[in-house]
Amino acid sequence: MSDPRIAAIPDVHGHAKGEHRPYTEERPIAYSARMLFLWFYHACRRESPRFLMVADHANYLTFEDPGAVNTVRRALKLAQAGDLLGAAETAGVDVPLAATVSEGLRRGMHFSIGAEIDNDPRARPDAQNIVDAMRPDGIIRSVHFVPIHHPEKGADWLWPFDNEEFSGLHELVGAEKLWELYIAKLLDDLDKLPAHVVGHFYVPATFGRWPSNKKLEEYEDRMLDVAHRRGLAVEINTRFLYREHPDDRKKKYLEANARLVRKAKARGVGIAIGSDAHSPKDQGNGFDQILKLLDDARINELVFPVAGRLARVALRATREHLEAQAQARRQASAPGSSITGFSRAELGLPEEPETGGLRPSGRSARDIGPKKRAGASARTSKRPAAPASSGASSSRRSTDSSSSASKAKAAKLAKAAPSKKKQPKEHKPAKRSSSRRKASPPARPVPKRSSGGSGAQKATPRKSTAPKSSTRKPAPKKSAAKKPASRRLAKPKARKAGYAKKSIKKKKSAAKRR
Ligand SMILES: [Zn+2]
Ligand SMILES: [Zn+2]
Repeated sequence: MSDPRIAAIPDVHGHAKGEHRPYTEERPIAYSARMLFLWFYHACRRESPRFLMVADHANYLTFEDPGAVNTVRRALKLAQAGDLLGAAETAGVDVPLAATVSEGLRRGMHFSIGAEIDNDPRARPDAQNIVDAMRPDGIIRSVHFVPIHHPEKGADWLWPFDNEEFSGLHELVGAEKLWELYIAKLLDDLDKLPAHVVGHFYVPATFGRWPSNKKLEEYEDRMLDVAHRRGLAVEINTRFLYREHPDDRKKKYLEANARLVRKAKARGVGIAIGSDAHSPKDQGNGFDQILKLLDDARINELVFPVAGRLARVALRATREHLEAQAQARRQASAPGSSITGFSRAELGLPEEPETGGLRPSGRSARDIGPKKRAGASARTSKRPAAPASSGASSSRRSTDSSSSASKAKAAKLAKAAPSKKKQPKEHKPAKRSSSRRKASPPARPVPKRSSGGSGAQKATPRKSTAPKSSTRKPAPKKSAAKKPASRRLAKPKARKAGYAKKSIKKKKSAAKRR
């Protein structure tokens, strides 16, 4: 895993309930808080994927699930708050495991709990009620069965076409027919049933059964039309890539997905990536190949379901993100710590008082302030490099006031600092910090608002470290300013986390998550 952006690719599709069993032996399996907690633990242990959603099959659902989901959410909250004992006790795990999860959460990892809902005839009829009771962060809608005329079982028999046990029936039902039936069912379900993400669109090709290219493209377009109309994202599923399949089939599979992401991007349909892991070891598996595919299509933004919404996650800070950040003049978030992707307005929070007038020029000393803020770099050793001198913005004030001494110093500094001089410097933060960026994962997922606008969150924390001002002249002042700087780092961050949490909660209760 060389490219740190790989860890930033959100994995929206995993099955904590384990591998498939023989078809007739699959029975519902109850979630436990421990099972879910451990699923997230493995991601925390390897620090990847940083955003992970578990989404088990409809036919595995039980009445216990909503309770377990509720409990694990509470455990995760405790872990995030640093209450290791409480988290361990709630989730039924040992404290060291809770500590690992706690650390991951505090570093900005995020876990969602959703469901993969399909047309499995074995699922209980009230499956959707149970899913609703789980208050899923997201629903992956997929189709694993098509109705065929079975030689022995008769008409309208639901065929699990991607199940090896029933692969013999591909002799009976040609690829064209299979795809026709599949698309009809999928589009109908996407149109009428609850969903956030279209699951593994190419699943009928699991055994190499593809329709003609012309038909396939037509199907892709029709699916994307529905997805666009209904605000759904499409999932690029990597399971096929890390399972046993001939190389030429994998190549064809990748090509199809490359086309799909290009089309999705062109239409403004969100893209989600799913490993479809049935074991923790496969979380994020195959994502290296997906990154290449995304790069080729110049896609930097993916979606991740949070509280029934599709949050946007940027794999790296681009110029656009930097500019949005400079404008918003708000706290930089820790790498990957912002899981909301929602603007304050959307969250029902009042606008920040001073965030209002966006400065078009972005030149004043104040504007410089946020750039320097090292909130995000908090987790690296570079933190100390951040100078605090200028631009105390509103968001920082409370922190400043906590230490009047440093406050006074900072104030002096701010005044004294010749802003003219600074500006030029602030201007090339990119260059300056380039080396640093390398040092730390450039891939901090920074959910941002797609709409750009006012809600845009500052994407790059790293810039805060930019001014390696240690070399600048006002040496003494600088050192003085440093201390407050590091202090500020921590505080605003904490606050931010608070907001994020609150926001999610609010959203849940407000929107009642569909
Ligand atoms: Zn599936
Ligand atoms: Zn699946």
